[in-house]
Formats: sequence, structure tokens, C-alpha cells
Amino acid sequence: STQIQLASRPEGWPTAENFRTVTVDLPDLAEGQVRVANEFVSVDPYMRGRMSAAKSYVAPFELGEVMTGGAVGRVVASRAASLPEGTLVLHQLGWRDVAQADADAFRAVPELPDAPSSLYLGILGMTGLTAYVGLTEIAPVQPGETVFISGAAGAVGTAAGQIARLLGAARVVGSAGSAEKVALLTDKYGFDAALNYKDAPVREQLPALVPGGVDVFFDNVGGDHLEAAIDVMNDHGRLALCGAISQYNAQQAPQGPDNLVSFIKSSLSMRGFTLGNHLDKAGEYNQRMSQWFADGEIRYDETVVDGIENAVDAFLGLMRGANTGKMVVRTA
Ligand code: NDP
Repeated sequence: STQIQLASRPEGWPTAENFRTVTVDLPDLAEGQVRVANEFVSVDPYMRGRMSAAKSYVAPFELGEVMTGGAVGRVVASRAASLPEGTLVLHQLGWRDVAQADADAFRAVPELPDAPSSLYLGILGMTGLTAYVGLTEIAPVQPGETVFISGAAGAVGTAAGQIARLLGAARVVGSAGSAEKVALLTDKYGFDAALNYKDAPVREQLPALVPGGVDVFFDNVGGDHLEAAIDVMNDHGRLALCGAISQYNAQQAPQGPDNLVSFIKSSLSMRGFTLGNHLDKAGEYNQRMSQWFADGEIRYDETVVDGIENAVDAFLGLMRGANTGKMVVRTA
């Protein structure tokens, strides 16, 4: 099995030197174990936080251990009756081409006849559920409202735009970092308008796109995007703080928004969340999303990088915006 380990903790932007690729021989299967050939391995922004030693909502990665995280694969050998050979499974054993462990480390998922299994890492999995929790529990969208989503062309963002609409939003606006992504948001994902934050400060661009103000802000980016959104929030507006990717590799503490007093004046509420505290919503999400998906209501994009040995490049590409929709590594 080829595996990627964390070799040292990055300061600022990670580099290839922070990781090590190793090949190990897998022992014979013990009773109750299965061996899984991964099809897709996930790379996600939250992994940057785990590369640092600081305690966060998920424990840091251990140096010299395999980078753990979401992956989907197929059972190729089994000594567990619950997971026969051929079963498609989801697991958290991360950046390796073959995973072997007790059966309870894996969860069987339904076959997707017309779509790649990587969707279980994206729209039918963690990132889709994150968007849903943000727009139903954290900053609930009411029919007729205006929603602004930062980082809108990524995995969580593309899901959030569509879910906002399905929940009845009247106007959905997004931000992204290239002209192509902005065009995709309006052409493919049904956003009413979108801005490229690299063209001019968000604070200058956003007001024209939300003439009636913003009722719900779903933030993946933080910093300048959060400040710009606070400027245009309507009374009783809600802000869901999902991510702050503009700050994950920063070595200096960022300046805070200069307009927090609006929370008082406009009775705003802002709430951060981590999906791990809302996994009780997964059943409801799977039910609603599989229906929307079957009805042809859902679009998605993936950026696929081939080869587990390229997982680090895929992760670094994700942090730079090389992806549209979900970034995944194909191992099969
Ligand atoms: P994405 O697919 O959105 O990929 C990351 C994107 O971030 C890139 O494509 C890039 O797009 C954008 N980006 C990078 N740097 C900047 C910057 N300085 N300013 C603005 N945009 C930037 O990743 P995910 O959908 O997986 O995650 C999105 C966010 O949600 C992240 O912040 C992540 O940490 C958070 N998250 C939080 C969870 C929770 O439980 N709270 C769970 C899952 C995700 P572009 O080209 O547009 O710059």
C-alpha cells in the first residue's frame, strides 16, 4: 500500500517537504478485517488546520502517521460477513491507495449507477452536508430571501448555492477567484450574480449585486469577504461562519472586520459551526439530497487529480483555487 504521511509541520504555506510517501506491505487479513482498494481520496481545507500542532476541533495529525480523511473504495478481500467483497464503502483512513482495518472502520454506501463514487466525498457527503447544515440550522434561509455565498465555486459553495435556491431563496449571489468560475456560477449553478474578488475589493463590488441587501451570508472565506458582507446585511440578517480559507496559511493575525457595530444596529446574528457537532442532520440531508439528485435538480463539478502520489499537489492546488467544485484524488 502506498501512503502519504505528514513528515513535519508547515509554517505558512505547506510544501512537498512536509510530506513523505511510503510503501508498506499489508499483513494478512485478521478475522473481522477487510481490505479496501480506494477509488477516490478527499483533500479538504480543514486538513491545513490539522497539520499544525495547535489543538482545534479535530486533533492534529501525528507526525509520521498517514494523513487521515475521507475516502471511498471497494472491498477487495474480506474476513467480515458484514462487508463482502465488492461492497462500496466510505471511510476516514485517508491518503493511501489500499486501506485495511476492522470492518467497523468502513461504512457501506449505495452504488451510484450513473455517477462516480467520488460524489460521496462531495455533494452526497461531507461538503454537501456542511452547506445544508449552514443554511438550515446555523443561518436558516427563509423563502424570498437574498443569500450571499463566499467561495461559491468550491465544493461547499456550489452545494450551498443550489440548496439556498431549493430552500426558496429569491436571490443568490456568490464570489469566486476567476472569470471562469464566476461565469460557471451564473450559467450552470443558477446564481443570479457573482463577483471575482480578484478584480476589485469585495467591499466595492458587492453592494451593486445585492440592491435589496443580504439576509443570509454563508462564509467560506473570512476576512475581506466577511467585512464586505456585514456592510450589506439586512436587519435580522444571519451569518453562518463555515470557513476562513483566506487565513489558513497566514502567519500574521489578520485584521478583524471594522464594522462589527452593525450587529447591534441591525440585530444581526453570526454563528460559527463545525459539521462534527451536527452529524445528526445527516439522515435528513441524505433523504432530501438523494431526492433532489434523483429529480435532476443538482449539478456538480469535480476536479480530479490522478494518483495517490499526487495527493499533496492536489491539496496545495485546492488551497490556491485550482479546483472547481470538489477536489478529489483518483487512486484506481
Ligand atoms: P473548496 O472546494 O471551496 O476549495 C477551496 C477554495 O478556496 C479554492 O478553490 C479557492 O477558490 C478558495 N480560496 C483559496 N484562497 C482564497 C482566498 N484567499 N480568498 C478567497 N477564496 C480563496 O473547499 P471546500 O468546499 O471543501 O471548503 C470551503 C470552506 O468550508 C473552507 O473554508 C473549509 O475550511 C470550510 N469547511 C468547513 C466545515 C465546517 O464544518 N465548518 C466543513 C467543510 C468545509 P477561488 O478560486 O475562488 O479562490
